[in-house]
Amino acid sequence: MLQQKYYEEPFLKTFQTTITSKKRDNGQYHLVLAQTIFYPTGGGQPHDTGFINHVPVVDVYEEDDLIYHVVERDIEEQQVLCEIDFNRRLYHMEHHTGQHLLSAVFLDEYGYSTEGFHLGTEYCTIDITTSHLGEEKQKVVEDKVNAFIRETIPITSYIVSPKELELLPMRKAPSVSEDIRIVEIADLDYSPCCGTHLTNTGQIGLLKIIKTEKYKGMTRVYFVCGTKALSDYVDKHSIITQLSTLFSTPESELLTRISSEMEQKRGLELELRKLQEEMLEYKARDIVTENPSSFVSFDWDQGSIEDAQHLASNIMNLGPDTVLIGVGDRLILTHDGTEDFHCGNFIKEHALPRGGRGGGSAQSAQVFFSDAEAKNKFKSYIETIFRSQTHTEKQ
Ligand SMILES: [Zn+2]
Repeated sequence: MLQQKYYEEPFLKTFQTTITSKKRDNGQYHLVLAQTIFYPTGGGQPHDTGFINHVPVVDVYEEDDLIYHVVERDIEEQQVLCEIDFNRRLYHMEHHTGQHLLSAVFLDEYGYSTEGFHLGTEYCTIDITTSHLGEEKQKVVEDKVNAFIRETIPITSYIVSPKELELLPMRKAPSVSEDIRIVEIADLDYSPCCGTHLTNTGQIGLLKIIKTEKYKGMTRVYFVCGTKALSDYVDKHSIITQLSTLFSTPESELLTRISSEMEQKRGLELELRKLQEEMLEYKARDIVTENPSSFVSFDWDQGSIEDAQHLASNIMNLGPDTVLIGVGDRLILTHDGTEDFHCGNFIKEHALPRGGRGGGSAQSAQVFFSDAEAKNKFKSYIETIFRSQTHTEKQ
């Protein structure tokens, strides 16, 4: 295909060419150019974006040996200026070439071959044939890859016939009947590939494995390269610097410092819980002393719903059999089970007709009201019933 200028000069950012054909589809225009610097989606690498005569190119695809450039509006001129989003292209090349190198080193060092490759916008992944990749192996591979990067090994690409392919030291030769494009990292890796690549390993700059996870019996390795690896470092450095200031601790001691802070926090939480429980016991005693009755009712906004339920059970341990507590927009009704009374049924029967929503078990129920006045009215209603009648009558 003569169209593929991006193979001859993968670093070309702008290019003058001509439109050779055009078709209209769904309000968009699909242009074919005499030659193009726009890479079409394929081989795991996303398409380039950019402009043709300042009109945005939203998609690039290959069909029947032609490369189509999708633009949102018609371009009348035949002579056009193409401009690609070079940062996007460079990101793709850094990661695609980085992937070839990383896959080659995993195979050479440990015999793990690459079964999957995904080039995302934030990172790149490969799936390698091992169910467990230890930290040590990961470091060996990462160090080796970065050593090859520093060696600035030349990268070339060429088309070979099936016969010529047999003579190449391919790790896994594809069975093809047609000519095929090979990307070679000199003497190190020969891969069949249709992507755009850097011209030497040094241009990858840096490769960092950022995490690994188990994936369908294999290991998925996440990594970043080049400019993305630098921006990842910049972001992480900024976070570490801020943490270091926040904890007034040198970076090297941050981990120990945060671990001990967390341990201290857990201890304080336990201590606080203990004190809260003691406080709820004192509170229960105060309430029962002030209201020596089998039914106790009050408002309480000093704790959570769980605390209120805890407080109610402390109160019942001291004698009263029924407790009504107003907490925010709801009421909690609890009963100690000594009589045939069902809190949930009581709420359903009496609160629902008065605009409340709720329910619960025999010994504990809750009811919500959307306005405070209705809640207070219902609270007074329950108080009247419980203070004037026996429980059996309340049912
Ligand atoms: Zn490739």
